[in-house]
Amino acid sequence: MSQDEWESLCDGCGRCCLHKLEDEDKGDLYYTNVACRLLDLKTCRCKHYPERETLVSDCICLKPSNMKDFHWLPPTCAYRLLNEGKELPKWHPLLSNNQESIHTSGISVRDFAIEEAEGLDLEDYIIDLPESDLTDID
Ligand code: SF4
Ligand code: SF4
Repeated sequence: MSQDEWESLCDGCGRCCLHKLEDEDKGDLYYTNVACRLLDLKTCRCKHYPERETLVSDCICLKPSNMKDFHWLPPTCAYRLLNEGKELPKWHPLLSNNQESIHTSGISVRDFAIEEAEGLDLEDYIIDLPESDLTDID
């Protein structure tokens, strides 16, 4: 797979760019609706994608070589689906041929993500990601 093909798998949902909390004892992961400071909340794309790892120390660059670590990604993420041997859902832009479908389907974070701010307690912002996204991929 070429780099361009790899990049095109990203549906642009922005979910991986939400801050997450992990229960260190149980290993459970909790998503919040607080976005990384570099996420554009309208487009749900990174504002500085090429420099993301330099600008945000805990930004994780997804590569074919680290796919085994993709369990922390949302279950709708194309990279996680691919790693689990599942098909892309119909709202994925590669299938819909429409970049807006990720928003109109309710999968992207556009309607619920908020900007991060100093002093904000992430525990107050834990969310369940909308479940409508799961109906398509089982
Ligand atoms: S969760 Fe996956 S598909 Fe969605 S923006 Fe992140 S990498 Fe792309
Ligand atoms: S730096 Fe960019 S790609 Fe990385 S988490 Fe933040 S918004 Fe997402």
